[in-house]
Amino acid sequence: MKIATFTLAGERRVGIVDLDRAEIRPFDLTVDQARSGLLAIIDRGMGSLPGTLSPIPLSQVEIEAPIPLPRRNIFCVGKNYYEHAHEFAKSGFDSSAAAGAVPKEPIIFSKLPETVIANHADVIIDPKVSTAIDYEAELAVIIGKPGRGISKDNVQDHIWGYTIVNDVTARDLQGKYSQWLIGKSQDTFCPMGPWAVTRDEVDITTAGIRCYVNQELRQDSRIAQLIFDIPTLISTLSQGITLKAGDIIATGTPAGVGIGFNPPKYLKAGDIVRVEIDGIGVLENRVAEGA
Ligand code: MG
Repeated sequence: MKIATFTLAGERRVGIVDLDRAEIRPFDLTVDQARSGLLAIIDRGMGSLPGTLSPIPLSQVEIEAPIPLPRRNIFCVGKNYYEHAHEFAKSGFDSSAAAGAVPKEPIIFSKLPETVIANHADVIIDPKVSTAIDYEAELAVIIGKPGRGISKDNVQDHIWGYTIVNDVTARDLQGKYSQWLIGKSQDTFCPMGPWAVTRDEVDITTAGIRCYVNQELRQDSRIAQLIFDIPTLISTLSQGITLKAGDIIATGTPAGVGIGFNPPKYLKAGDIVRVEIDGIGVLENRVAEGA
């Protein structure tokens, strides 16, 4: 199932997307329940979906991020594809480079919840703050069942599903501060969507991931190329931290980000960044200048 959060006549709703029919079937939720978007569905557990109402043409709704405001920071993984680990380590912006290009344990950082924006919303770059804005196409895992000390063999039970994020990054700020949070958490720096898919919808281990900037293919890899796979990430994160339903883990980006080029290809106003993951969909955002 593909489940989207959307707005119709000014009200937030949640529904099942049917791409063949180009329509969406809203869940029968109160306005209050729908306010948290997909979280309202995740919180009910995998087996108990609400009923649905009459379908609405997709063209009549405005798609929002599946989880427009996560309850807590988005967990993110740094340097989790081999070729990207090498391109980043030699870029001069990697404040973790002293530990070696390829990490021995997952590098975990986070993005503030307020960074999330929808498919087709603008990523705002503020040239007074950063002049080195980069894109990072990533698979995001959404936790369904809470847990602590989750073993690798048991992670499937805890995964609700998947979505796409663009882990937009201010490279100059990422290099300036040894913690990455500021460079990763600028307003609008987490496009997410266009919707979320349940874990049974896609064999994520075989899916391809691609990123285009203005139709130029920049990143082209497969989820199977992750250095630390999804079971390892969930198991690692849950050692001493209770993962909660609705938590989001951005799993890292493949080679081909802007700083991988010489000279770097940073984002500028007017650019269109398009991230695709097989079986999930396409997340596309324009870059605009603002403050
Ligand atoms: Mg990233």
